[in-house]
Amino acid sequence: MYLKKIEVQGFKSFANKIVFDFHRGITGIVGPNGSGKSNVSDAVRWVLGEQSAKQLRGQNMQDVIFSGTELRKPQGYAFVAITMDNSDRTLTIDFDEVTISRRIYRSGESEYMINNSTCRLKDISELLYDTGIGREGYSIIGQGQVDKILSKKSEDRRELFDEAVGITKYKRRKELAQKK
Ligand code: ATP
Ligand code: MG
Repeated sequence: MYLKKIEVQGFKSFANKIVFDFHRGITGIVGPNGSGKSNVSDAVRWVLGEQSAKQLRGQNMQDVIFSGTELRKPQGYAFVAITMDNSDRTLTIDFDEVTISRRIYRSGESEYMINNSTCRLKDISELLYDTGIGREGYSIIGQGQVDKILSKKSEDRRELFDEAVGITKYKRRKELAQKK
């Protein structure tokens, strides 16, 4: 499995619809300070269900919506979609391509989708457990996070190992069952 495409529209500095195409291997994003490089990884975090505005370097969730410039009026919503190549069926869904998307309006109303069908954030989390990709995964290592991983409490480090060996899914199900 690999990340094939990121589509953003009205997200942070990306007012227009922009499509980033990726291929197997390594892709670097370069550009001057403030040009939007980190906004690309913020978009990926956000579409995977990030709930903390702070993690996205904003005050509240609506701050991810393009807020306008001297030349452009603000957008009414933010949209991000990421497409993964799933021909090896790493994700347990019977499609060669899986697209996860999220949209938020200024009203606060928001929507998640998997392959264009509306779903809950829970469905996205479940699909991605134990792949290392999800919100709790380790696929996005932010600035400063490397130090944190090295000095984290042993329980926190354990979570990374749980995710890597593939038992997060079972732990979450157990927690849920115990709550009921
Ligand atoms: P650096 O090299 O300093 O890390 P960067 O390329 O990572 O820079 P980002 O932090 O991704 O840059 O982008 C910052 C830019 O995004 C700023 O110019 C900021 O004004 C713009 N920006 C952030 N949120 C919004 C928003 N909601 N609407 C419009 N522009 C936004
Ligand atoms: Mg940056």
